[in-house]
Amino acid sequence: MRKLAKLEIKMVDTRNQYLKIKDEIDNAIQEVINSSQFIQGPVVAEFESEVARYLGVKYAIGCASGTDALQIAMMALDIKPGDEVITTPFTFVATTETIALLGAKPVYVDIDEKTYNIDVDKIEKKINPKTKAIIPVHLYGLPSDMDKIMEIAKAYKLFVIEDAAQAIGAVYKNQKVCTIGDIGCLSFYPSKNLGAFGDAGMVTTNNEELALKIKMIISHGSKNKYYHEILGVNSRLDSIQAAILKVKLKYLEQYSNSRIEAAKKYNERFNGKIDPPYVLPYVKHIFHQYSVRVPGRDKLQDFLKSHGVPSMVYYPVPLHLQQAYRYDYKAGDFPVSEKVARDIISLPMHTELTDEHINFISDKVLEFIKNN
Ligand SMILES: *Cc1c(COP(=O)(O)O)cnc(C)c1O
Repeated sequence: MRKLAKLEIKMVDTRNQYLKIKDEIDNAIQEVINSSQFIQGPVVAEFESEVARYLGVKYAIGCASGTDALQIAMMALDIKPGDEVITTPFTFVATTETIALLGAKPVYVDIDEKTYNIDVDKIEKKINPKTKAIIPVHLYGLPSDMDKIMEIAKAYKLFVIEDAAQAIGAVYKNQKVCTIGDIGCLSFYPSKNLGAFGDAGMVTTNNEELALKIKMIISHGSKNKYYHEILGVNSRLDSIQAAILKVKLKYLEQYSNSRIEAAKKYNERFNGKIDPPYVLPYVKHIFHQYSVRVPGRDKLQDFLKSHGVPSMVYYPVPLHLQQAYRYDYKAGDFPVSEKVARDIISLPMHTELTDEHINFISDKVLEFIKNN
């Protein structure tokens, strides 16, 4: 009998993705090394203009990480101590962390139970004269309800910064996310949909004045070397990462399609026994994560692990309950976020998933549900 190779299941598989385009990537890296232009080499500007074209936005400015992108965006909008910034408590810490770093206060609005994104009907109640901006996060690759957010922002004269770290390529009513608010922020962390081989990020805008300011901020607040006009940071996109990302950008639509296909297959296998991730009819979800809610989530994780199936919980503790960011918040303040944090689970999702992987994973999940 033929010996079956052990099915190896990974949460993300950037290695096999790389191996398919290894020569192209390796050559791109070598070219940067040959040029010795490691900082602000020509490939950075090339990549920036290709992303701008891909997204349909006027300006795209590379920086060192998605977290920096958020901080730089807020610096460009002059968010300062005493200001308030409205955002979601059910996300990665970066949004809250950067608001706090600038001395402003993160003011949370609970999430919508279907989309896991900020509940737009609850935003207005949190607006006061200190409010300066709203940061919607397009969680798991699903766009937030941008029309309503832009409408509120306009009525109250607030800025909108889109945290599109998980959503490059996602579309809201014919417009890619990251191009709708005043500023958009992207992360190219290795496991993101467009992943570098280290940390990298990007800030996008259609506003020329903001773009010029952002370009200065990422490089010590200076336009001309050694003349510093505004407060800045050192957060440039390095040339090697830009070269890698420029190669991978060509494959991004293909990568998104593989994820969408994998999500469709999970949905089919679960066949209503688990609620599929909710997708509004007028958006394109690019499935950075395939996240579902299963009662007894922790036990499910153990069960999957015992069968060699990895899974992750994004995120187990909402930000208002994190020790570093408690402010005056307490348990019970954002009940939907707290409830979802208890039973959400993200199953393996990447561009290299096969039907065999998906069948095995979904069989195990269904087996757990049947017996619990
Ligand atoms: C990954 C991520 C970030 C931060 O990006 P880094 O590049 O890791 O700094 C910010 N917001 C969200 C929602 C993210 O998922």
